[in-house]
Amino acid sequence: MRLVFLGPPGAGKGTQADLISEKTGLPHISPGDMFRKAVKEGSDLGRKVKEFMDKGQLVPDNVTISVIRDRITQPDCGDGFILDGFPRNLRQAEELDDMMAEAGLDLHGVVNFEVPLDILIGRSVGRRVCRGCGATYHVEHNPPRSEGVCDACGGPLTHRDDDREETVKRRLTVYTEQTEPLIEFYLRKGILVNVSGDQPVVAVTRDLEAALDGIKRKIAR
Ligand code: ADP
Ligand code: AMP
Repeated sequence: MRLVFLGPPGAGKGTQADLISEKTGLPHISPGDMFRKAVKEGSDLGRKVKEFMDKGQLVPDNVTISVIRDRITQPDCGDGFILDGFPRNLRQAEELDDMMAEAGLDLHGVVNFEVPLDILIGRSVGRRVCRGCGATYHVEHNPPRSEGVCDACGGPLTHRDDDREETVKRRLTVYTEQTEPLIEFYLRKGILVNVSGDQPVVAVTRDLEAALDGIKRKIAR
């Protein structure tokens, strides 16, 4: 299945993509994660993207599109993928359409995680990410068993630089101006499914799995 997870920063896309990836084996592809890794490694890509990420702005399209184009043509994407955080504007969505058309493939579904804007700041400000394995926690809603330590690998939990309140607010503005219009774009294509992200993680997963079953039935028809 080729899927896009759409939604504002902090909606829970990465949390759900990790869970679904583990259950289905579909690779979880997050440009944000790839960019953060590049920054940590100090690579050319990392140097290109850092200033945009620090300001809460989108990385330029040509950079992001080429990273995604390279990634989704890897052999592990043969059975599909979960794109989390791409596309984020109309140009990227059109480029993704072109990539699919060139490969003679369909995008099967776009899951839109709906969360009221007013709770999103708390979601991102309270987010903690494992420096070792990248697992995501929340200080209140999804705390690790031992404070500051990853349940999965024992690594230290960190606070993302762009999860400071001022930067989160800027990222939410970028979402409203550039990414939200994609809801209409995919609605018109008839492949958008809404899932409420404003409920406990397990309830979101339950609704998401029901939505994915619907997409699978559509593919089988
Ligand atoms: P996104 O990938 O959409 O930016 P994340 O999956 O990283 O969002 O989630 C943002 C923060 O909210 C994290 O701290 C995560 O642990 C927490 N979170 C995720 N899903 C929920 C949920 N359903 N209810 C409460 N908190 C959640
Ligand atoms: P995320 O991990 O999805 O919250 O993304 C973190 C940051 O990475 C964003 O604020 C952007 O600076 C950058 N980024 C992630 N995805 C994209 C994208 N599709 N287009 C441009 N920039 C992106």
